[in-house]
Amino acid sequence: MTDAEVLVVGGGSTGCGIARDLAMRGVDVTLVEKGNLTNGTTGRMHGLLHSGARYAVSDQPSASECIEENRVLRDIASHCVEMTGGQFVQLEGDDDEYFEEKLKGCRECGIPADVLTAEEAREEEPYLSKDVKRSIRVPDGAIDPFRLCVANAASAQEHGARIETHTEVTDVLLDESDDEVRGLEVRHDSGPGKHEHGRAGETEKITAEYVVNATGAWAGQIGEMAGVDVEVRPSKGVMVVMNCRQVDTVINHCRPKGDADIVVPHETTAILGTTDEEVSDPEDYPEEQWEVDMMIDQLSKLVPILQEARTVRSFWGVRPLYEPPGTGTTDPTDITRDYFLLDHEERDGLSSFTSIVGGKFTTYRMMAEEISDHVCEQLGVSAECQTADEPLPGSEDFSVLRDYMDEFGLRSPVGRRSVQRLGSRADDVLKTGEPNPVLCDCEAVTRAEVRDAIDQSGTDLNAVRIRTRASMGNCQGGFCCHRMANELFPEYDESQAYDALDELFEERWKGERHALWGEQLSQAALNYALHATTMNRDRPLKGEDTDFAAFDSGVETEIPEPVADERGERGD
Ligand SMILES: Cc1cc2nc3c(=O)[nH]c(=O)nc-3n(C[C@H](O)[C@H](O)[C@H](O)COP(=O)(O)OP(=O)(O)OC[C@H]3O[C@@H](n4cnc5c(N)ncnc54)[C@H](O)[C@@H]3O)c2cc1C
Repeated sequence: MTDAEVLVVGGGSTGCGIARDLAMRGVDVTLVEKGNLTNGTTGRMHGLLHSGARYAVSDQPSASECIEENRVLRDIASHCVEMTGGQFVQLEGDDDEYFEEKLKGCRECGIPADVLTAEEAREEEPYLSKDVKRSIRVPDGAIDPFRLCVANAASAQEHGARIETHTEVTDVLLDESDDEVRGLEVRHDSGPGKHEHGRAGETEKITAEYVVNATGAWAGQIGEMAGVDVEVRPSKGVMVVMNCRQVDTVINHCRPKGDADIVVPHETTAILGTTDEEVSDPEDYPEEQWEVDMMIDQLSKLVPILQEARTVRSFWGVRPLYEPPGTGTTDPTDITRDYFLLDHEERDGLSSFTSIVGGKFTTYRMMAEEISDHVCEQLGVSAECQTADEPLPGSEDFSVLRDYMDEFGLRSPVGRRSVQRLGSRADDVLKTGEPNPVLCDCEAVTRAEVRDAIDQSGTDLNAVRIRTRASMGNCQGGFCCHRMANELFPEYDESQAYDALDELFEERWKGERHALWGEQLSQAALNYALHATTMNRDRPLKGEDTDFAAFDSGVETEIPEPVADERGERGD
């Protein structure tokens, strides 16, 4: 008797998609993730729902998969997708032949594609450069990776799966002859949130009939624990977040390949990207200023206003690229974006273990279906995949949005955005009968939404952030982090609320420090003044004895003098 039929390692889009697919087929599945959901590449990607046009010349099978899944995701995850549309823009001087090849490739792969004249292109996107020659319009879109991943995990859980976050795999358990995987050894951590299973610091051996390695760029590390080679070639890319949507459609530069060639409108921002540079460690690589500068320099040739616009933060992600052994591609931009299912029994003589590597976020569901078919075949389960037809939680019938708008009298952007994010859960979340002020002004997130997210993720304000987008707008949390933390009290005590606040600040600061010029520098200085100076959040709290409750109740309290160290300086 094992603890689970299948253990999935990795809480990114691939792992969550697999857990959902298997659970819907009636398989007893446990997913383990060392951080929170979307801790890896899925939480650090561009947010493009590919139409496939990007690959229509270089990799037509991938292009066809993308358009197929693009249609499926619009159906099953409408509350995570914004169908912005996209353009592949040719500037004066760009290659005519490549433009024609792109158009032909799109048509060959079944991707709807129309040619726009320069005037038409600029009518749709007024900030495009005057150097536009023509463009191809395609059904690219924007997708929210956080909501999509959470929705997959929630659906898996509804079908009986156990989802363990903050649980790191430390070893792969083998049978005595080392030719079959029997389970995993994991270490539970004290990550914030509602963690119901293991206790922090505890290790646990979880046995299973089958183990799936869905750790993306980390797949080689899990392979090594099992004694097999998984030759992932992690490749980093930078993304730069602008203060508002300078464009409303996805703008791609129509040229063979190159860095800095795409702008994706995402919620209230536009995200510029990207680069492609191989790294040896998916967690330890340089994040360099020139990469950020290059995005702005290059992309302002397509959209000149970017040169003066305000940059709010930058972040990097690592692609889980894979090449079959012996391929030996030297330039990472030439490594295939296709995905590979590595059955370690066939490949390495190690049974009950498969890795899934490569691929794209857009095709996560298809990857999950293929690996779930494979696992079910091994386990003798005959149930069919249902994930292409069964809507994800929250998106059952997105046409209800209009009805909700009327019902709640929500005409304002705040109401519209709340209902868009929540989809068919809007009723449950917004009808609280209590006042519902806006806590995050930049992203229009109300108290009811923040409380709903806290109900699901406890003290983990970063999880609240990824569910609601609170603190992800122009002020980068300057005016709302503390309001979010405030909602934790009194369910959680003061020290838990302060810890959660600090963690959220740290996370916001990580990306902001690459964007410290112009207006964003002023914003960062204001945030510093507010949080560090006014709220004393840039140093450990002064002494354990401070009675903070006394401030709230108005009772006078003596604040201890700062302690001086041997050099007579204040201890920070
Ligand atoms: C710069 C960039 C931009 C991109 N843009 C797009 C785009 O716009 N559209 C698109 O379709 N695709 C895009 N991609 C590709 C896409 O993001 C990835 O293919 C996809 O997110 C990979 O998901 P995953 O679940 O396979 O991996 P991940 O999301 O990395 O998940 C793997 C998980 O495994 C966990 N893990 C690792 N080790 C352990 C362990 N020992 N124990 C437990 N858990 C562990 C990690 O914490 C991680 O959460 C982009 C990629 C990059 C790098």
